[in-house]
Amino acid sequence: MSKLKNIFVFFGPPGSGKGTLAWLCVKRLGFVQLSTGSLFRRHINEQTDIGKQIDFTIRSGKLVEDSVVSKIVTEWLENAAHEHSSIILDGYPRTKNQAETLSQFLSEKFSSVKVCIVRLQISDEKLVERLGKRVVCAEKSCQKVYSLIENSSHKPKQTGTCDICVGKLIQRKDDAPEAVKKRLAVYHSHENELIDFYGENGVTIEDFNAADLVERIFEKFLCRFGFSIR
Ligand code: AMP
Repeated sequence: MSKLKNIFVFFGPPGSGKGTLAWLCVKRLGFVQLSTGSLFRRHINEQTDIGKQIDFTIRSGKLVEDSVVSKIVTEWLENAAHEHSSIILDGYPRTKNQAETLSQFLSEKFSSVKVCIVRLQISDEKLVERLGKRVVCAEKSCQKVYSLIENSSHKPKQTGTCDICVGKLIQRKDDAPEAVKKRLAVYHSHENELIDFYGENGVTIEDFNAADLVERIFEKFLCRFGFSIR
């Protein structure tokens, strides 16, 4: 029996804070999250067949093939739907083809599920600064994200060490300047086709200012979707 009621698609450029907002929703609202980027990085770390296949693509800031991503996501959704009522997809769909596959899958398997697009908007200049100062925990099971920007509320307590699991903090290979440029270009090349696709299919798109503090964005998220924290 499926428990699934809501799917929130977190949509925005790399560095817009999708993962950090998702983390708050998981911790404070009990949602479950699938980050395709984190999942792929785990495959690469563990040198699985998929990991070997996508390593170069990810390092160079390009997108993994639609069929590979969509298969992983739909299989994951089929399992997660038995246990969770609200699911966040962080970083999927990213192309019109992926959006069509998801939409088809949901109409066949979970036709009563409500899909909402949470769009995080921010300038490219701010993103380049953020990504240049972003570090992540190297522990496969943790991957917590931090910022080294002065005065950021996401600075690690101790330089180079994860607050949660004491893992080493590293820069992601695809946060190197050349890869960031490529990733932003890739994002912008698919942005409008996705927005048009959702517009044509009557799916709600809720815009959030990703330059705000994440706690503020979270408060607005609660308000817009009618959630409260006990
Ligand atoms: P992210 O952590 O979301 O920035 O994703 C890191 C990288 O994983 C991206 O630059 C892509 O190479 C790959 N990736 C993640 N999600 C997708 C997706 N939905 N479609 C294709 N590639 C993806």
